[in-house]
Amino acid sequence: MKIQRIPAGIYAANCYIIYCHNTKEGIIVDPGGDADTIIENIKNNKIEIKYIVLTHGHGDHIGAVKELKDELDVPLLAHEDEQELLKNPNINLSATMAMGAIELEPDILLKDKDIIEFGNLKGEVIHTPGHTRGGICLKLDDYLISGDTLFKGSIGRTDLLGGNYKDLMDSIKNKILILDENTIVLPGHGQSSTILDEKLYNPFLN
Ligand SMILES: [Zn+2]
Ligand SMILES: [Zn+2]
Repeated sequence: MKIQRIPAGIYAANCYIIYCHNTKEGIIVDPGGDADTIIENIKNNKIEIKYIVLTHGHGDHIGAVKELKDELDVPLLAHEDEQELLKNPNINLSATMAMGAIELEPDILLKDKDIIEFGNLKGEVIHTPGHTRGGICLKLDDYLISGDTLFKGSIGRTDLLGGNYKDLMDSIKNKILILDENTIVLPGHGQSSTILDEKLYNPFLN
């Protein structure tokens, strides 16, 4: 498995291109902007993208979805509870962000424990409501794509529409911190971490 991190768009949300080293099949997670850079990366590495996957639907994570769908013609995957947010630019905040209003409809709806297969890889969907209702993390081998649920040394905001602090803490404690401590956390913003480091040093979890 290969994972590329591209801080994309003016909000620099981490876009991850994840692909199977053997088959070159891959997915794009959270393309928030810079479609040209993402496409160039895909072409240079000869990756065949199978899906675009959203950890959640905020504007800074979806800014390049339409351009990439036009270019790559692949299905968009998001959690079923994220539909309302995705189709409403006021709730997904794109209406007030630099990229302008975005309305999206997922092609495939995800649920907790769904498996996303590409190449020889399997990603497990973990529904982690709290930052948004339909937020997910994606577990791939020893890696966890954590979206805006968990950051290095911080946690996702819960003051936006659809946010809920108790849900977020339940998600993190009951679904994320139970993972193997060596799991590498790849968040929606900023640098990577591990489950162990977050248990030890994240001030919001202690
Ligand atoms: Zn967000
Ligand atoms: Zn974000």
